[in-house]
Amino acid sequence: MSIKKNGLNTICTHVGELEDKQHKGAVSPLYMSTSYAFDDVEVKRYPRYFNTPNQEGLCKKIAALEHAESALIFGSGMAAVSTALMAFLKAGDHVVLQQTLYGGTYNLVTEEFSKYGIEYSFTQGWEASDFEEKIQKNTKVVYIETPSNPLLTITDLAAVAAIAKKNGIVSMIDNTFASPVNQNPIDFGIDVVIHSATKYMGGHSDICAGAVAASELHIERIFHLAKNFGGSLSDYTVWLLERSIKTMGIRVRAQNENAMAMAKYLYDHVAIDAVYYPGLTSHTGHELAKNQMKGFGGMLSFELKPFIDASKFQKSLKLIKSSMSLAGVESTLLSPAQTSHALMSPEVRAEQGIRDGLIRFSVGIEEVEDLMEDIEQAIAHVKLSTAIA
Ligand SMILES: *Cc1c(COP(=O)(O)O)cnc(C)c1O
Repeated sequence: MSIKKNGLNTICTHVGELEDKQHKGAVSPLYMSTSYAFDDVEVKRYPRYFNTPNQEGLCKKIAALEHAESALIFGSGMAAVSTALMAFLKAGDHVVLQQTLYGGTYNLVTEEFSKYGIEYSFTQGWEASDFEEKIQKNTKVVYIETPSNPLLTITDLAAVAAIAKKNGIVSMIDNTFASPVNQNPIDFGIDVVIHSATKYMGGHSDICAGAVAASELHIERIFHLAKNFGGSLSDYTVWLLERSIKTMGIRVRAQNENAMAMAKYLYDHVAIDAVYYPGLTSHTGHELAKNQMKGFGGMLSFELKPFIDASKFQKSLKLIKSSMSLAGVESTLLSPAQTSHALMSPEVRAEQGIRDGLIRFSVGIEEVEDLMEDIEQAIAHVKLSTAIA
């Protein structure tokens, strides 16, 4: 099947499917074998070699979704992040990372890299010049995340890719927040695209997985480390993830629409101080997002006015759950200062603009009127309880 001719939802549904030759079933058969005969075959199949039939099928689908030559799937998003980074870094090398990264990636870099003699710098801002400024003679990788967590800042994909090319270094992106539905960084010259498939690819808050998509050459290099690090994904989860991705296009597009409606609603709300959503014309990265994204995504953040207690607000919601994770079909929210960014010192948080009243909102596929009503009743409830106290 030629990938170029197929549209997004066709890729989601069909690319990489395995044929059920025995029974002609509609879905890919699941091969749970960890042991495959190797006497008369060229490819030595083994789960940790990332080449079981189900793993290979899913990798084809993810590569097609990201307009990449090749892909690898991992046991978690962090297995994908750590393996991709370490594949291009050794003692004495340097990596430039965007500030305001996913908390787990920030911890990986700040807690582990110095043990291996790997140097790192975080950018001051999100402009291309902020990245260029940090590049040294020994820089090997530049690493970005756009839209970023939790403030949805937008980094210029083409500009960062050009800086990387000019300096002969590898550019990497954590594309989790956008999902392949809304953003394909390889089209803008980025080398390596990483996903926490736990989020939009899985989409139902019941799968933990990661993915990397890149050129065959880059994937080959990452694969060599991956098989030594051992972060492969079990075939059962691979099969579930293949099934989940079939509906990713329609899920994420519905989430885009709901998030836009919720962003506008929150922006106009008297109890809300600020809304961060790339789809709003007021967002600093709006023009850039319009150029490099196909949809603005299902993630947004907002700041409650000081008279609304953030923790009481969360407890008063009836439909929207407080949750550590994101990107499921159900709407969830959290306070970054208390969860995803809790391990950072308050000073580092403040530097990155993450205030205590900030709420990160992962918008689901529910009817948008029901979501608005839930927020309305929660705010009314907090106001009332504050007035009584
Ligand atoms: C969740 C997440 C990760 C880590 O993925 P896990 O599957 O939890 O290991 C990395 N980056 C971003 C942006 C995430 O949201």
